Amino acid sequence: MKKMIVGNWKGHPSSIKEAEELFRVSDREGVVVCPPFVFMSVGRDMLKKAVLGAQDIFWEEGAFTGEISAPQVKDVGASYVIVGHSERRAMGDTDDDVMKKADAAVKAGLTAIVCVGESAIVRAEGENDVREFVALQLSAIESFIASGKIIIAYEPIWAIGTENAATSDDAVSMISLIRSVVGDEVKVLYGGSVSSLNAEDFLSRPEIDGLLVGGASSDPAEFGRLLAAIGDRD
Ligand code: PEP
Repeated sequence: MKKMIVGNWKGHPSSIKEAEELFRVSDREGVVVCPPFVFMSVGRDMLKKAVLGAQDIFWEEGAFTGEISAPQVKDVGASYVIVGHSERRAMGDTDDDVMKKADAAVKAGLTAIVCVGESAIVRAEGENDVREFVALQLSAIESFIASGKIIIAYEPIWAIGTENAATSDDAVSMISLIRSVVGDEVKVLYGGSVSSLNAEDFLSRPEIDGLLVGGASSDPAEFGRLLAAIGDRD
């Protein structure tokens, strides 16, 4: 199975010109590019090998000012959507919201990349608490697993945007727990301070099906180095 690299640009970059440069660097087989909504149609027109994803969706269509629906991102060319990113959860998304977003994504024909992972506070409580916390997050999307349209990204919050990635051993250990809930058919990614220096270490582990890359994916030089570092890895 080919490993996936999902690039989450978050709120970057500031201009279409910079977005075009990032799309050029990112256009490789196995890459899913998740730009801000405003750049999605640029990506649809530019990407030949990589595919397009959205960073979030709302579960309804209609009179919801400022929201973007699953059918809209599907129609603009997305195949994937991230739901439950810790930055969205920090802004109020609950497990119930994540469930509704995953449902809307699957119904629209998108694959939902569902983020789970514990905070530093939960981590300090010990391994049992971490496992319970992540298992609870997973229970919100359990009913969609059979759809074949769910990918899980294990993203410990303490590792996101910190230059303090989990070790590949830690990631593998949590991914084993996640697999015990979601089964072997579901892809499970790792995310949290992945860079050109550590990507290959994570990808060399058979238990890790790919990477969700935040900061490094919105820096063209660094993302280029990351893609070069991992070569054509399967
Ligand atoms: C993310 O945004 O999902 C992420 C993992 O961010 P970073 O790679 O910057 O830690």
